[in-house]
Amino acid sequence: MHQGRNPAPNGENRNARSDGGLELEAPHEGTVQRTGAAEPASAHSNHAAKHGGLFFMAPDGWHHIEGVVTAEREFHLYFYNNLTKSISAQPFLEGTFIEIVKLDSEKKEMGRPVKVTFAKAEEHFLLASLPEGYPFPFEINARIKFEDHEKPVLFNFVFEHAAPGDLSKK
Ligand SMILES: [Zn+2]
Repeated sequence: MHQGRNPAPNGENRNARSDGGLELEAPHEGTVQRTGAAEPASAHSNHAAKHGGLFFMAPDGWHHIEGVVTAEREFHLYFYNNLTKSISAQPFLEGTFIEIVKLDSEKKEMGRPVKVTFAKAEEHFLLASLPEGYPFPFEINARIKFEDHEKPVLFNFVFEHAAPGDLSKK
């Protein structure tokens, strides 16, 4: 269990990169769903990805997000509260966007980031269709507009494969 905004220990943030002056949070540990545990009742006690994606806590120490690439090559950006309960994605639709970047086999960036806008908000996630021509691995820079931040906050995802399916529905 972590306290507030403590960064992840070394070795757990290999998907995170710094990008100039933009804020960036390291991903929490536990991108794999754990089983057998009771539903946690306290804030920040569950940082496991719920949809097989990559999970972060926002700099406000309250919101949590998860980025997922589906087998249909959609990017889903899920939003959670401090208890890791799903919240409405609609408030984030305006001002939030992603960039997709090609990576070589050593995960070095190739070419320029290409901006992709979200097509719509589903109940708990924003949905974007990814362009053709980006085989795995690739990088997605999500720039998320939070109410209490003037500028979008950067979250950096490196995807090596599509999510195995919706783990919350098994
Ligand atoms: Zn947290």
